[in-house]
Amino acid sequence: SSFSLQMPKMNLKRTYSESLLGSGISTPVNIVVGSHVWVGDPELVWIDGQVSNINGEEAEIQTSNEKMVVAKVSKLYPKDMEVAANGIEDMTKLSYLHEPGVLHNLATRFEMNEIYTYSGNILIAINPFQSLSHLYDATMMDRYKGAPVGELGPHVFAIADSAYREMINERKSNSILVSGESGAGKTETTKMLMRYLAFLGGHTAAEGRTVEQQVLESNPVLEAFGNAKTSRNNNSSRFGKFVEIQFNKQGKISGAAIRTYLLERSRVCQISDPERNYHCFYLLCAAPPQEREKYKLGNPRSFHYLNQSNCYELAGTSDAHQYLTTRRAMDIVGISETEQEAIFRVVAAILHLGNIEFAKGEDNESSIVKDEAPLFHLQMTAELLMCDPRALEDALCKRIMITPEEIIKRSLDPVGATVSRDGLAKTIYSRLFDWLVDKINVSIGQDPNSRCLIGVLDIYGFESFKTNSFEQLCINFTNEKLQQHFNQHVFKVEQEEYTKEEIDWSYIEFVDNQPVLDLIEKKPGGIIALLDEACMFPKSTHETFAQKLYQTFKDHKRFIKPKLARSDFTIVHYAGEVQYQSDQFLDKNKDYVVPEHQDLLSSSKCSFVAGLFPPLTEEAAKSSKFSSIGSRFKLQLQQLMEILKSTEPHYIRCIKPNSLLQPAIFENINVMQQLRSGGVLEAIRIKCAGYPTYRSFFDFLTRFSVLAPEVLKGNYDEKDACIQILDKMGLTGFQIGKSKVFLRAGQMAELDALRSKI
Ligand code: ATP
Ligand code: MG
Repeated sequence: SSFSLQMPKMNLKRTYSESLLGSGISTPVNIVVGSHVWVGDPELVWIDGQVSNINGEEAEIQTSNEKMVVAKVSKLYPKDMEVAANGIEDMTKLSYLHEPGVLHNLATRFEMNEIYTYSGNILIAINPFQSLSHLYDATMMDRYKGAPVGELGPHVFAIADSAYREMINERKSNSILVSGESGAGKTETTKMLMRYLAFLGGHTAAEGRTVEQQVLESNPVLEAFGNAKTSRNNNSSRFGKFVEIQFNKQGKISGAAIRTYLLERSRVCQISDPERNYHCFYLLCAAPPQEREKYKLGNPRSFHYLNQSNCYELAGTSDAHQYLTTRRAMDIVGISETEQEAIFRVVAAILHLGNIEFAKGEDNESSIVKDEAPLFHLQMTAELLMCDPRALEDALCKRIMITPEEIIKRSLDPVGATVSRDGLAKTIYSRLFDWLVDKINVSIGQDPNSRCLIGVLDIYGFESFKTNSFEQLCINFTNEKLQQHFNQHVFKVEQEEYTKEEIDWSYIEFVDNQPVLDLIEKKPGGIIALLDEACMFPKSTHETFAQKLYQTFKDHKRFIKPKLARSDFTIVHYAGEVQYQSDQFLDKNKDYVVPEHQDLLSSSKCSFVAGLFPPLTEEAAKSSKFSSIGSRFKLQLQQLMEILKSTEPHYIRCIKPNSLLQPAIFENINVMQQLRSGGVLEAIRIKCAGYPTYRSFFDFLTRFSVLAPEVLKGNYDEKDACIQILDKMGLTGFQIGKSKVFLRAGQMAELDALRSKI
């Protein structure tokens, strides 16, 4: 089954709601009768209310939707009554940093179309699902240019601007990491970032095709071939992408490199309602008549690779128009007319290939291509790929076995031939996609003298569905890596603030997810290594593979063998538990092109097609038998992390406010889940483990001097006055920095409670 077909299912265990302020972090919150609080609610996640009675450990709360709720006092969170009606732009300034406070602030702002909010140095971006063009026009770009972060409202431009300034001023490479679940707005955000960077670092003179134009136009090309409509997003990227924009000494864009990760291959031959295959297939079917005629294309409904789903059109977009846009974009990125012709010929060939059907041959074991209409598709495929139709038929239906004694031609049965056909389609398509990426890179060109770069990462977010396969493991592995990088960074920034203020922070700990990473990637012995081993051993099945996992990780804290499972396994990820089904792991991990397919296409008379299948040396042919997608992906990821580690990171967390893809709907449960798995709450937890609220001496006195008015008498010292107030109120554990008071979690609330009694 294809991995994108399932609806998102929020089956993650709530690992954080309970532990957010729990485990070792004391919350000496002073909740009394009359306190305004947040209390858990099965539907809304949190609801606000006022404590009307306290009975030992239990409190009665009158909620704002007029209900009476009884809850443990320890499960209540104080509500900040001083938050402005339109929310707070930077959530670390919230007096009470906790889940309900964060959620409430985001909801309040979203309601007013304020889709951007900071949480410290993280930008949270909530998908508005409507065009807010005023947010991104030329005036806005001008306003953000050079403005210090925080001076104007939170915005993607502010992040891009600070990355650019930092690069220019500190001569250091920067990166912007955009994450979020499917449909959350990563790709749109990335495009906005790139537009703004092109605006800052673009060339004013009209030089024809500029580097920045090429960089921007690479987006529609990659989207045509790498994006598709899924049940979660009408324009879902089915690959990960890291764009590295290089700048010269003058701060102008001088080159770029695009790296892509793990294109979803199964989509080429398998889709289900209401999804679509990759956009390019439909675009080509909507091309001008003379082109359709040339490729013998017509109604997309007549192609097996498209008609497995009933969805052919995308609301609000015209494939015919998109076809022309894509061709224009291809011109700009430097793909020649001849190459474009060949690219679309290959796309058409894949559609015809998918229509080739097989019948039983003379004996039960063999197969032949079905007569009549399907034979037409065999002819067409061969014509478009410029290879011999008989050779194509053989490559699909036969396998050559080499034994020490002789060479035997063995026939595949119809089922085997169909698998062979789909395998060929997937291989051709993924080679085509890689070719496009390489071509764009060559055409844009790299600047060997570039000193600094800004990297923009648009990569799939954490996934947990009803069934999870190899792709989910790779995706979640990526997210574990990025989460570790994120934690380390957040932690570092926090410590830097403490160091600057010269306060003691040695006892702050944070949860490292290294154990999960080891479980997956350790060599030897990690899951990927064990999978490779299984793939190399001809007799292994997914069941023997799973048994091996059960044995090896019996005592691993992050690995669970689900009860009664025969081949499923569960990993305890930072964002929750995910149960994986291992049945297709072995097949999906094998990155092996059968020699029959390789030989067929490398001898194509079309140099473009032959170029997609360069002949293999004997050595390479042998080792390709064991090349594995998992290991290659792991290597790519390692390289990505190396680059990221050498840059100053900026984080953007995209959030999908609802699964209906509709404007103005904010689903609490959904958003909460994403805040958890996006690491936003983890960042807050790290903060809470230290001194989550700090206030300058002046701000502190403004708010709390009423507790001890005597400290402001005469020529007082601000710092001393703060200490006196804290001492008088009997607080301990706080710290006094050079210019700020650092409070432990809950202490702000305690002071507020005391203040309200006055
Ligand atoms: P995937 O992981 O599936 O690729 P994604 O996170 O890249 O998802 P996008 O394709 O960027 O998601 O966004 C999905 C849709 O949401 C867009 O096609 C667009 O309609 C809408 N959208 C996203 N961001 C914005 C925005 N800032 N303003 C208006 N609409 C937006
Ligand atoms: Mg995307």
